[in-house]
Amino acid sequence: MRPEVERALHTIPIGASSPLRACRNVDTEPLVVAEAHGQYLQDVDGTRYIDFMYGFGPLILGHAPQAVSSAIARQAADGTLFGTYCPQEVELAERIAATADHLEQMRFVCSGTEAVMSTLRLARAYTGRTGVLRFNGGYHGHFDLVQNKDEARMRDAGLDPAAMQSNVYAEYNDTASVERAFAEHSGEIAAVVVEPIACNMSLVLPEDGFLADLRRICDREGAVLIFDEVITGFRLTYGPASNLLGVAPDLTTFGKIIGGGTPVGAFGGRRDIMRLLDEERVLQGGTLAGNPLTMAAGLATLDVLAGAGFYEELERKGALLEAAVERHRAEKGLDFHFVRTGSIFAFIFVPRSTPILRKADVAAQPHAPYTTLYAGFRKAGYHLAPDIEEPMYISAATPDETLEDFAARAVELLATDPNT
Ligand code: PMP
Repeated sequence: MRPEVERALHTIPIGASSPLRACRNVDTEPLVVAEAHGQYLQDVDGTRYIDFMYGFGPLILGHAPQAVSSAIARQAADGTLFGTYCPQEVELAERIAATADHLEQMRFVCSGTEAVMSTLRLARAYTGRTGVLRFNGGYHGHFDLVQNKDEARMRDAGLDPAAMQSNVYAEYNDTASVERAFAEHSGEIAAVVVEPIACNMSLVLPEDGFLADLRRICDREGAVLIFDEVITGFRLTYGPASNLLGVAPDLTTFGKIIGGGTPVGAFGGRRDIMRLLDEERVLQGGTLAGNPLTMAAGLATLDVLAGAGFYEELERKGALLEAAVERHRAEKGLDFHFVRTGSIFAFIFVPRSTPILRKADVAAQPHAPYTTLYAGFRKAGYHLAPDIEEPMYISAATPDETLEDFAARAVELLATDPNT
């Protein structure tokens, strides 16, 4: 074991402040990174790794992009926390709100978890109900109300059973399961919370009509529809992915990208729901929420994202990767899913004749091919998702050569695995 890892383990459980970083699910030692620039992570020995994780999604511009780093440095020189109104906060809120009609008001928090937590509290206050309908395989943070109950690797100790009982589960892409849940819990469900594109059970795309069905059912049942866009917000287009998907939720959560790589979360939506915060009927706040440092990083990031052709270029890169993987896969005669939307992608080792629609379809895959893939890529100087069910990301700093090389290597490695 590396001495840095041993040292970390002494003071920090698993050695890091969030579980997947330990790389236990890929049987590998974690990287110990000293600095990061562009597409590279550089470890404490000076070895560089090409990154396909980008901090689990926030770093859409790559590591330490100049515009963002300078904005952070400038703001740091002028103060990192005011504890009062600041124009940067209003500016970022206005810019995010301007991306969709349904984002009438916004608030900032410090993480995606807090953003979801706040929307659920609002939904309960607004409806006077307590139940929360969510989907197997979705992830919305680690607080009791949305902790997963069905995972093989479930860590359920310490959860409040009463809070867990408020959870009602349905299956992604399965409208009938949502109807059943509402029938069984008539008048009890305050909110339906969903990742409009599911990014925590590998990568699962919504089937045509599924999100519209949720909209229709929520309207009929008087439940609040919450899109958790912590990953998808500003990842696929300048604004929430709901703009691409054609369904407007009542509330939306953001995180990751809008903070330019600093701690952030945000939520927003219908004024008549958000107003409960103004009327002081719902308590929600945070010492560091909306701090000028994060706001400066977010504004500098959005400046770049708003540039002409930014998302078209990311889509071009994503399409290039997909085409290259498919070309090599066909040449080797391998059978697996390569799922991609924009700059998010994942491998799912299930025959292509089986559609991937929900958690059970993803969970059915063997783990060995991904372990092979991860180990081979680590040796070749790449940092991939440290878990088979985490998607990976392309950034604006990922060059075409990296994508070509990645596709060729991936298929070559998988061809050596008997389970693929
Ligand atoms: N919602 C979704 C969809 C997420 O993917 C995540 C984390 N990856 C969260 C919420 C929680 O965000 P955070 O880790 O910032 O608390």
